[in-house]
Amino acid sequence: MTILSHPIDEQSNPFAIAQQQFDIAADLLDLNMGTRRRLRVPRRELKVAVPVRLDNGDIEVYEGYRVQHNVARGPAKGGIRYHPDVDIDLIRALSMWMTWKCALVNIPFGGAKGGVTVDPERLSLGELERLTRRYAAEISIIIGPEKDIPAPDMNTNPQVMAWIMDTISIHRGYTVRPTVTGKPLHVGGSEGRTEATSRGMICLLREACRHLEMRMDKSSVVIQGFGNVGGNAARLLYDTGVKVVAVSDVRGGLYNADGLDIPAIQRYQAQTGTMAGYSEAEGVTNAELLELPCDILVPAALGNQITRENAARIKARIIGEAANGPTTPAADAILAENGHFVIPDILGNAGGVIVSYFEWVQGLQEYFWSEHEVVENLERIIIKAFHDVVKVAESRHNHMRTAAYLLAVRRVADTAETRGVYP
Ligand code: NAD
Repeated sequence: MTILSHPIDEQSNPFAIAQQQFDIAADLLDLNMGTRRRLRVPRRELKVAVPVRLDNGDIEVYEGYRVQHNVARGPAKGGIRYHPDVDIDLIRALSMWMTWKCALVNIPFGGAKGGVTVDPERLSLGELERLTRRYAAEISIIIGPEKDIPAPDMNTNPQVMAWIMDTISIHRGYTVRPTVTGKPLHVGGSEGRTEATSRGMICLLREACRHLEMRMDKSSVVIQGFGNVGGNAARLLYDTGVKVVAVSDVRGGLYNADGLDIPAIQRYQAQTGTMAGYSEAEGVTNAELLELPCDILVPAALGNQITRENAARIKARIIGEAANGPTTPAADAILAENGHFVIPDILGNAGGVIVSYFEWVQGLQEYFWSEHEVVENLERIIIKAFHDVVKVAESRHNHMRTAAYLLAVRRVADTAETRGVYP
């Protein structure tokens, strides 16, 4: 099996990791040097200062970013993250991954990402709204329905998207619904968007189980992260009778080898703001959770969770990457060596951007689809992408991530090369 063409140093800088992943594909595709230089770096980067009047009257200034990695195949697309770890290299990496993700599932978008370096748990609702509106106003010079369309990511949600859409609309003087996706239904969102990333992941897990001749209904699942993606994935699995044996949030996790009562944990979390302290399961740390005995592991929180250090102790047969960048390239090599089946992030969490694409189309056409239409089209696109990747992995003897990159990078490179270099 061709895994890597050059030795891998353990990197923790996400942009260095993203470039390393790209280089592996570029080598295997024998990409010409000019195209490689163009695709290796973002097309456009905006850094903004975001002054916010706090409730006590003080003014705090936060750093914000919007990076557009590539727009060869269509307007830039990607989420907005509010997190203390946000910096330019994280946003660059996330924007590059968006380019490959959109190309892999063949939707007409380029890649972008944005974020603000902030711990939103420390802000009141009013402060969060003022931060969002000022950040939206600052990046309004490069976003818009035909240019760059943001969406939710960690610590941003449909309410934040509604504030962004409203801010851009106020500046324009009329309502511009397709400015962002992931909006609440009653402000022009799409049916099925909230669960889209999780639904896409579950569909992929089903296909992976079929491919590996495993019984999904007899499998045990561990999920790291219990937010939009991890929480909805746990609930959808529970509702279909699949045993979820461990879940976690930022404060730690819960484990029960016989299966967790996910609705009860969701109720507990809604009352207390965390799952920590829930008494009907054993407590585990986030590090322990990754190494638990299970059939399927779904990282759905932060990046750099599976590393050279812990990769050899992972027990799950299938690793379904719902988070962006949860596995380092050095860990990838170990997982491949040990025969794990990885559904790489650019495929694993693509359900979100697929339904964001549907929401954008619905907003542009002012014509809205039923949930049934959304789910049917999501499943059609993501199942095709899964089998496209498996076919490349098998024919070229690569593992799934490299196969996904080969497909995605080739598509973007073809478009960029045919369009040419201006002037
Ligand atoms: P979220 O903010 O809704 O939830 C994040 C969850 O992760 C929370 O439960 C939080 O407590 C937990 N968490 C935070 N830090 C952690 C840590 N150090 N260890 C363990 N858990 C931790 O975010 P989300 O929208 O669910 O996004 C999760 C991941 O999925 C991110 O990597 C994001 O980029 C990716 N993603 C999200 C979407 C989407 O549609 N929301 C789409 C594609 C990819």
